Amino acid sequence: MCGIIGYIGEDDAVSFLIEGLRKLEYRGYDSCGVVVEDANGNTELYKTKGKIAHLEDILANNIENIKGNIGLGHTRWATHGKPSKENAHPHFDCEKKIFVVHNGIIENFNYLKRDLTKKGHKFHSDTDTEIIAHLIEEFYEGDLLSAVLKSLELVAGTFGLGIIHKDEPDKIIVARRGSPLILGVGKNEMVASSDVAAILKLTDRVIYMEDNQVAVLKKDDYKIYSLTRERVRKKPEKVEWKLTDTDKNGFPHYMLKEIYEQPETILNAMRGRILKEEGTIKLGGLESVIDKLKKMKRLIIVSCGTSYHAGLIARYMFEKLTDVNVEVEYASEFRYRNINISENTVVLAISQSGETADTIAALKEAQRKGALTIGLVNVVGSTIARLTTAGVYNHAGPEIGVASTKLFTSQVLILLMIATLLGRFKKLSMNDGLNIINALENLPSQIESILKQSDKIRDIAKKYHKFPSFLYMGRLFNFPTALEGALKLKEVSYIHAEGYPAGEMKHGPIALISPNCPVMAICPKDSMFEKMVGNIKEIEARNGKIIAVTTEENGILKEISDEIITIPETIEMLYPILSVIPLQLFAYYCALYNGCEIDKPRNLAKSVTVE
Ligand code: GLU
Repeated sequence: MCGIIGYIGEDDAVSFLIEGLRKLEYRGYDSCGVVVEDANGNTELYKTKGKIAHLEDILANNIENIKGNIGLGHTRWATHGKPSKENAHPHFDCEKKIFVVHNGIIENFNYLKRDLTKKGHKFHSDTDTEIIAHLIEEFYEGDLLSAVLKSLELVAGTFGLGIIHKDEPDKIIVARRGSPLILGVGKNEMVASSDVAAILKLTDRVIYMEDNQVAVLKKDDYKIYSLTRERVRKKPEKVEWKLTDTDKNGFPHYMLKEIYEQPETILNAMRGRILKEEGTIKLGGLESVIDKLKKMKRLIIVSCGTSYHAGLIARYMFEKLTDVNVEVEYASEFRYRNINISENTVVLAISQSGETADTIAALKEAQRKGALTIGLVNVVGSTIARLTTAGVYNHAGPEIGVASTKLFTSQVLILLMIATLLGRFKKLSMNDGLNIINALENLPSQIESILKQSDKIRDIAKKYHKFPSFLYMGRLFNFPTALEGALKLKEVSYIHAEGYPAGEMKHGPIALISPNCPVMAICPKDSMFEKMVGNIKEIEARNGKIIAVTTEENGILKEISDEIITIPETIEMLYPILSVIPLQLFAYYCALYNGCEIDKPRNLAKSVTVE
């Protein structure tokens, strides 16, 4: 969600900023802007509502004016004030000397604005952000850092901030509380951004800033401070992602590229983590807490969106393989509930970005109540990775398509690996463990075989993309898959879709069945197959159209379904990983036929970093 970028060095700042903003685009935004400063403190500010391409046109018309080696850029996802040129960042003070980009929400801005207005400050926007520029102006006495620190003392809420001042054209000040902020340390150049993807062009040496830290960046130096101006010493670390990971590699959309990456991301999630001789799994990130995990009686999984669906599947897995009771909670609900955390309760947070605001808040709440917290995240060094006591990384590379695909399958896989690891300390036999491992190892080639049916799934999407509404249904392990398939369709193709446990159909949703509301039935030949066939027959009897995802090419389903998509056989617990692939492709192609902006669906942001 939104993004900031700052550059200071010897190169042309504006071209670096624009490239950086392009890398931030996927996070979701409605307006954008840049400010560039030269060594004499001359500044040029450009902002616009809408896309970066538009900002680039404006810059191209003014290119001879925009010279400077320092600059700030911003993609805004409006929280306070509608998307407009005035509300776009960077914001500035009364004298247009101080420029600020901000990611987050200043909760007490109304009160501060009133106070500043009384003191004579004139505001140019409706945003919460602008008060920061005026506060700094109010406190400025020739030292930008101390003015920033005094201002931040008064501010409540969350921020990732980038600040420059015309009178100090040798530095950028950045600050963080509750919004991601990463420094990139180059040779005679420094960059700061909310996202590693925007830094990789310059360097792979990064510093993850912590909450309540401020940094002063000069082209050949950085100094990090606490809010009370104590120096914090931090050395850069190397990131494992490469710049090429953030390209489309010849695919028309990131979403399609990421769907096709799944054989590899599944392999990466397993690599070095399988102990075949012992029929178990090894997860280095959990070793420090393994004794506590062995004693765990209750696991609460907190997450949002697609990660929540992965959590729901984990509940069935843990029930099958361990003696742990599992609850799965929306992080946005958990954080406000009166949940009693008893002894031996562990809270597991699942988040692709590791920056999801609700999940972070839920974790903090769980920690306050004494729970051991662990994480399953993709982004190394992210807030959740650092906040939790232990955890597992997906190693899936950057996921840039807003609709999560490769992370869902990677999460489901790793959750099964955690359940297997814990199960092997208790009721699970060596042979049971080995069966799971064998099934895991078959997944990459099985996913390949489903991807080969892409043309067939595209043809089905061509036939169905104009339908206004869909029902998705499955049972047990495939009920959450139904939820996930419906979510994908909603997200990228804007078609209304609902996921249901098939057994619930008679309790309401069956009323929707008509030739205009097709049903996607997830029905592999598992323990629920016969029950599912019964449910599908009930739909057929009411003239509903049925698309079945199944393991059986020529069985009963062929007679009663309108379309059949086949997937290979695996163990029951792993069907979600195989059956979701056709659902991802179906959503993708429906969106394509409907002319939707697939990688950046309307109103959505990739990582939801505000509440
Ligand atoms: N709250 C600020 C605004 O509405 C910042 C939003 C963002 O993080 O993009 O302008």
